[in-house]
Amino acid sequence: MKNYDVVVIGAGPGGYPAAIRCAQLGLATACIDKWLDPEGGPVPGGTCLNAGCIPSKALLDTSHQYSFIKHEAQEHGIHSAGVTLDVHRMMTRKNRIVKTLTQGIGGLFRKYNVEWLPGEARMLSDRLIEVSPVGKEAGETYPVTTRHVIIATGSVPAAISVAQVDNRLIVDSSGALAFTDIPPRLGILGAGVIGLELGSVWGRLGSKVVILEALDRFLEPVDRKVAESAFRLLGAQGLDIRLGCRVTGTGSNNREVTVNYENQQEKQQLTVDKLIVAAGRKPNTKGLGAVDIGIEISEHGFIHVDEHCRTNLTNIYAVGDVVRGPMLAHKATAEGIMAAERIAGHKSSVNYSAIPGVVYTWPEIAWVGRTSQQLEAEAIDFRSGEFPFAASGRARASGSSDGLVRIFTDTKTDRILGVHILGPHASELIAEAVTAMEFDGCGEDLAKIIHAHPTLSEALHEAALAAGGHSLHI
Ligand code: FAD
Ligand code: AMP
Repeated sequence: MKNYDVVVIGAGPGGYPAAIRCAQLGLATACIDKWLDPEGGPVPGGTCLNAGCIPSKALLDTSHQYSFIKHEAQEHGIHSAGVTLDVHRMMTRKNRIVKTLTQGIGGLFRKYNVEWLPGEARMLSDRLIEVSPVGKEAGETYPVTTRHVIIATGSVPAAISVAQVDNRLIVDSSGALAFTDIPPRLGILGAGVIGLELGSVWGRLGSKVVILEALDRFLEPVDRKVAESAFRLLGAQGLDIRLGCRVTGTGSNNREVTVNYENQQEKQQLTVDKLIVAAGRKPNTKGLGAVDIGIEISEHGFIHVDEHCRTNLTNIYAVGDVVRGPMLAHKATAEGIMAAERIAGHKSSVNYSAIPGVVYTWPEIAWVGRTSQQLEAEAIDFRSGEFPFAASGRARASGSSDGLVRIFTDTKTDRILGVHILGPHASELIAEAVTAMEFDGCGEDLAKIIHAHPTLSEALHEAALAAGGHSLHI
């Protein structure tokens, strides 16, 4: 029987870096995953690489470039006639990117000596795991033993009874990343990150998009002023986002979907060619045997862990989407590394107050730390500084000057409490704010750092100057 120091279950962004780190630290490590590629072959990478972060960004990039050529290139004096989109080619490109990256993980496993065990894992005890090979590799189940386990089994789309996915007209996010045609009328249930990104992809390519969102507020984790600006800009791009609209039922024939929803108790109806259900995701412990061996699970299905991702069974850790906290790839990775290092005897931890979030619309929305409304609710005395990209030379030069930066600092200590950005490349700009917060930075630190000119990062600099009361360019 194979015997390891650590077995990692799941090879998504929580599991595969954890396995690599364990092996780097000298632990005999195996990583088990059951994901199958479209040809039925086992593949690492999890949701993030196969059906999440990467394929969605590939399509967002293609659709952004298409939209630029169609609508903005003329402003630069670039004329192009007869621009068309080849959906098949766009999808082939996306699939190739996914394949290159997942193969890369296979290469890393070989390089660092992680044993890759494709198959479905079921825990028979805290030290004994049964592996059932799947897909093209299907065969006899076999047991492996281990001293430690890291569970990184991720999440799956939350199914809702009022809109059941049929993978034909009603699809989840995976289906929406593989459409073969551009649906003329596209409905999306849920205006969360995934709904907005998929709406942007297909809206830019020509779909008439309506997004139905049960909540009255748009993008709860984002500062209200930033979220409201984003709402207006996305609306101006043609995304018809209807807040306070709860979907109550759907019906479909062979060609179209009828969506029933309620807005302030008034019954409404929408007919679309496709409906994407983006109503959130739920933790995945199906078939894992976690409950049977005594692992505590919360009422919402998350594996219960302490701040170091340790479960109630002391040799078992759980990380990523399957535990509490934001469902984000980088949060999963940070937790996976922490778990690996703790198993190896290090005192690692994760700073949960400095995890950035991003929505890859255009402009992008990125944030870290608290919003002004959270700070008000907590009665924290804070200063805010703001800078619009309209006043940024670089943003103007690139023709993308919508949006703003907001920074919040503690009035007494000047510590940075939150940074919220709506603007071009906000996903990259937020890294500076995260770094500053990790180093316990102050508004004055950001204000004193020299930022290259002309860059978008000057907007963050100017917002910090504004928080200190000495703006230069507004
Ligand atoms: P997963 O990536 O879900 O991996 C879990 C793995 O465990 C899977 O491969 C699964 O096959 C395997 N597994 C489960 N059970 C078993 C078992 N019993 N035996 C063997 N293997 C098992 N996050 C971001 O940070 N940025 C983004 O831009 C972003 N975009 C997204 C876009 C979409 C459309 C979606 C759906 C998600 C996106 N996310 C994004 C979220 C991100 O994908 C997840 O937060 C991340 O993948 C979680 O990582 P994980 O390792 O916890 O789980
Ligand atoms: P997220 O959890 O960020 O992925 O976003 C999912 C969104 O779907 C949330 O904002 C929910 O409010 C929304 N949602 C869930 N169920 C419904 C429903 N029946 N009708 C409309 N919106 C919904």
